Order: sequence, then structure tokens, then C-alpha cells
Amino acid sequence: MNAAPNHILIVGGGTAGWMAANLFAHQWKSKGIKVSLIESDVIGTVGVGEGSTPFLKDFFEKLGIPESQWMKEANATYKCGISFPGWSTHTGFDSYIHPFYSTVDSPDVPIFFEQADIRRRSQQAQAHPDHYFVTSKLIKNSLSPILKQDKKNKLDYGYHFDAELLGRFLAKNAVAIGVAHIKDKVTSINLNPAGNIESVTTVDSGVINADIFIDCSGFRGMLIQGALGEKLISYECYLPNDSAVAIQTPLEDMQEIPSETVSAALKYGWAWKIPLMNRFGNGYVYSSKYITPEQAEAELKQHLGISKDDKVKSLHLKWTPGRISNHWKKNCLALGLSQGFLEPLEAPMLNIIQQTCESFIACLEASNFSDHYMPAFNTSINQLIDGTRDYLQGHYKLNSRTDTQYWIDVRENQIISNELSEILKGWYDGRDFNQVLRENLKANPYQKTSWYCMLAGLGYFKSFDQISDELPESDLKENLKLEAQFYTHAEQLRRVSGLG
Ligand SMILES: Cc1cc2nc3c(=O)[nH]c(=O)nc-3n(C[C@H](O)[C@H](O)[C@H](O)COP(=O)(O)OP(=O)(O)OC[C@H]3O[C@@H](n4cnc5c(N)ncnc54)[C@H](O)[C@@H]3O)c2cc1C
Repeated sequence: MNAAPNHILIVGGGTAGWMAANLFAHQWKSKGIKVSLIESDVIGTVGVGEGSTPFLKDFFEKLGIPESQWMKEANATYKCGISFPGWSTHTGFDSYIHPFYSTVDSPDVPIFFEQADIRRRSQQAQAHPDHYFVTSKLIKNSLSPILKQDKKNKLDYGYHFDAELLGRFLAKNAVAIGVAHIKDKVTSINLNPAGNIESVTTVDSGVINADIFIDCSGFRGMLIQGALGEKLISYECYLPNDSAVAIQTPLEDMQEIPSETVSAALKYGWAWKIPLMNRFGNGYVYSSKYITPEQAEAELKQHLGISKDDKVKSLHLKWTPGRISNHWKKNCLALGLSQGFLEPLEAPMLNIIQQTCESFIACLEASNFSDHYMPAFNTSINQLIDGTRDYLQGHYKLNSRTDTQYWIDVRENQIISNELSEILKGWYDGRDFNQVLRENLKANPYQKTSWYCMLAGLGYFKSFDQISDELPESDLKENLKLEAQFYTHAEQLRRVSGLG
């Protein structure tokens, strides 16, 4: 590649494929670069992946798509953060929220860091994160992150959405901005003598040539892993879970619709609960080394209050946690499940797709469409994924449950990166934690606030049981103020859908 490409072909029409189609067309349609997407009706998409981080907000803002245009079509709701009940058994820390943090939090959050540092040194302090973040308080009151007035004081937030409907919306938008949509199955990938991909062969559309190929074919990684031989590096030694079962349940009361994802620890993993405008998405993420899919489904049903004899539709999934090393190889970029998958905890994957795609575009623009930045690009994407892996593994290392061998094993697992090991030690030993984070975070997407919330939220302190964490009175007044300032979640969803 040494000149602007004439044609970019995306293989795969899941969330990764359609996000990429929109980003490429938005960026380069004015340069006359043709973008096409081919997807197979027969193969289908993974069908899950309903939670995001605030990066998805940036994605829609970049494309100039307002919430009123897409949220209703994807049955989307607002997400102020994630709560983690049941991961810790320490008194006062049975649940915590990983909130989305923004500038409105600035007066209180330094106090939280200070209190947590005092508590790390075994002195009395109020170190539970839930008391200090606006979004945590919004969650506790089923409020949306949208202010009634003072619009400039914006909060960061994410979304929940129906993955299939979001895909359909993104497809419609991509086609409207000029992406060619081909419904066909790719049967083979054809390489030229230099080892670049030259074309793909399809069932009905013949051979399709392109200059850049984007592999969004899902777990199979048909181009990057299949044709270009890139190997998946397994992270099973770090992350225990390799399976999930998903079940949908009805949303009984729209008035009480929550603005959080719940990630509740169960016996052999954890269960997500994601509110959409019309239903809940639920799933149990577990390790197949400890239970069978049938046992997992039975435990999830019990958790959801569904009788074991009730016939409900369930979707079982299996993966190897890990990533490839060369996300950009030859003239191919891997995006989404084809570049690897860790697990759904903290919902990081759409963010990785977005950052990989945007960084690829930036590298090509900065080098006049050469592959000059390919090595640096691959290093930075690997750091992004490995930093995410460390943050996810932290949840397992810090759990204090003893009810099953699973929780004991994941806590005692000695295979962790040096960075994670240093972070955990530095926190526990009461060292200057800013310094510890500076030395060990590098390009980690999870920064200071996230680490403090997880470490303090799980009650990872030397002495926990002796010190009580009482809710300060001021919290109650704060809640009353918030109710006057923010739309309730239900109210805001009606507003954004044009219903009131
Ligand atoms: C249990 C679970 C929960 C998850 N939860 C979250 C979450 O909350 N948040 C988050 O960010 N991520 C989550 N993820 C990850 C997220 O689902 C994926 O990153 C996202 O959906 C992108 O998937 P994809 O587009 O790469 O692959 P897929 O959805 O599998 O799409 C693959 C596409 O490739 C096409 N294809 C394949 N082979 C061919 C062929 N031969 N010819 C033509 N087309 C072909 C298929 O037709 C399909 O369109 C979760 C994943 C799992 C497994």
C-alpha cells in the first residue's frame, strides 16, 4: 500500500463490520474511496454484546448521529456504570459501582482518593467509592445522566442496546452514506505472490478485488487467522472464563428502568443484567472447567427466578480468551472477534474495535497510505488489549469468596503480569499509589479512577472488619438535589424516543 486505496472490502456484518463501514465511509467518502461490506445470511452474527463504555458516545458524535435518531431503533438505554454485587465478602463491601467518571465529579473524587489512601494505611476512613461519584448516585436513584438544565456540564456515560438492532441501524446508516452492501458468502481468500490478499471468492458474486481487506468475520478470523496464518495467543492462563449462556427476560416496569449494568458474582463466574427499552438481556459467564452448559443454564435460571422446568430460549457461547499479535498484517486489518476476545466483564470490546479502527485510519492518513506505522500500531493495540486483560483479571484476583473452588483458584492464580502484580502489591502495602500507577499503567485504558474504584470497592484493605463504613448523612441530601437536576431514566428514554 503506497497510495490511497480505491476499494476497502469489509468481510462480516456484525457490530465490528458495521462500525468499521461507518467510520471508513465517514472518513474517506470525500476522497472517492469505495467501501463495501459483505456478510453471509447463513452464518449470522454472535448475537450478544449489549453494553458499551462512553467511547460509543464519541462514535455517534463523530458520525454526527444524535441519540434521538438511533437509540429508539436499537431499544437502547443509558448506562451510568456497572455494579458488582457478590464479588467481595468483606463487611461493607458486598457491592460497588464502577462509575463513569467526568468533570462534574471533580470536587468529590480527590476526597475519595484521599480517604482510600488513609484506609490503605489501616486508619479509619470512608473508602467506599459509591459515596463519591455522581453517576453512582444516579444509578441508585434510577436517574439518567441527562441534566434538565446546565447543558454544558455534560457527564460521561455509555449505553445498553440490542446488538442485532444496533447492527441494522448502523447498516442502514452506512448504506445511506455510500457503503455497498453485498449479501453473499465468502468461500475462499486469494493471495498474490507477495502474500497480500488480492481478492475473495464468493458463492454468487464471483471474485471481488480490493486494496484493503477488513476482517470482521467473527471468531473464525477467516482472513487474518485463516488466510494470513496469524495465531491466537491464548489468555486462558490469566482469565478463567471461556463460556456463556444468555437468556432474555421481560422488563416489567418501565418506570423503574435501571441505568446500570449489573455484573453479579455467581458460583462459577458472574451474571450480567442489561436493561433495554423493552426487555433485559441476561447472561452467565463461566468456566467450562468447573461446570457444564446445562449446569450453568440451571444456575442462571435460578438466579433469574425462572423455574428449572420453564422452557426459555437460551443461547450458549464458547470462546478461547486471547488475542492475535498482528491486528494489521499485509493489507488486512482484523476488527472485533477476529482480533481476539477476552470476556464480557466491563464491556470493553466495542471500545477496542473503535480504537483499532480509528487508530488504523490515523496511521494511514499520517503516512500517506503506507504501512510505515504498522509495527507501532500493532504494539499499541496489544497494549490496549493487555491493559484491559490486567484490569479484568484484577476482579478475579481480589475476590474474597470461598464458596467454590472456582473463586479460590482464580484468586490464587499466580499467572499475572508484572504490572498487575506491582499494582496490587503497591496498593496493599500502602505505597504512593500515584507513583505505582505511573510506573505500571503505560497505555492501559483503565486509569487511576477505575483502579481506585475496583481496589477500594472490593474492600482490598489490610484491616476491613474492624472499621465500619456508615453512609454519611450528606448523601441523602445529595440524592434529593440530583432528583431535581436529572431526568429519571424512564423520563429521558421517553424524551429521546419522541414520546414525551
Ligand atoms: C457472551 C458475550 C458477551 C459480550 N458482551 C459484550 C458487551 O457487553 N460489550 C462489548 O463491547 N462486547 C461484548 N461482547 C463482544 C461483542 O459481542 C463483539 O465484540 C461484537 O459483537 C463484534 O462481533 P463481530 O462483529 O466481530 O463478530 P460477529 O457478530 O460474529 O459477526 C461476524 C460476521 O461475519 C460474517 N461472516 C463470517 N464468515 C463469513 C463468510 N464466510 N462470508 C461472509 N460473511 C461471513 C457473519 O455473517 C457475521 O455478519 C460479548 C461477546 C460475547 C461472546
